[in-house]
Amino acid sequence: MKTIYRIFTTLLLLILIGGNTIARSPYPAGLKIISDNAEYQKQIKADANQELVDLEKSIPGLVIDIRYATSDNFTKQAVYPAARAFARKPVAQQLKAIQEELKLRGLGLKIYDAYRPYAVTVKFFEVYPDSVFVANPKKGSRHNRGAAIDASLIDLKTGKELQMPSAFDEFSERAKPSFQGISELQKVNRKLLIELMTKHGFTVYDSEWWHFDFNGWQQFDLMDLSFEQLDQLKSEL
Ligand SMILES: [Zn+2]
Repeated sequence: MKTIYRIFTTLLLLILIGGNTIARSPYPAGLKIISDNAEYQKQIKADANQELVDLEKSIPGLVIDIRYATSDNFTKQAVYPAARAFARKPVAQQLKAIQEELKLRGLGLKIYDAYRPYAVTVKFFEVYPDSVFVANPKKGSRHNRGAAIDASLIDLKTGKELQMPSAFDEFSERAKPSFQGISELQKVNRKLLIELMTKHGFTVYDSEWWHFDFNGWQQFDLMDLSFEQLDQLKSEL
């Protein structure tokens, strides 16, 4: 009888522990999200392309204007602790090539957003639960994979952004790359950005002229590592 009792309590304990483990996971079931330093390092060792590269450090003259590190964004609060832009290695390499090509025309890239930790995507959807403009956390964003870029063009002499059809993160019809009710100059600038990005392996999102997915984004997992974690890992690599 004692043995049966012991088996019963052990089983009960196991069920309780198991239940707790499931309840403790902050992520939706069935979604693979890398939130562990060791796991990310293992991935880089197996495939160097998995590394999230600091874009500002690796692309000369790149201008970053990370709105989510300021209150100047749709959430009206700073959701990033610092203005940082990371992307997977092949994404960074293509952006570097684009920057070099633009330089010949006196132009450059401006990055509004790049890698975005998964936890931030969850927060965005709480503030703005519309999956046309904000990724549904059930699927995650390609930004969470370090394989999407929000970008515009600047004039290198003035540092000013070229005229585009809408502001960044303007959730309106004007944001669509197919929107026609704009000036000729805005059309020309938008076309140049989209053509260059497309040539270098990106696809524009049909609801936002500034958002580009890197072709082959599927090879990169969703990530929930903070910028601080990435810096810490960088020094350990
Ligand atoms: Zn985007």
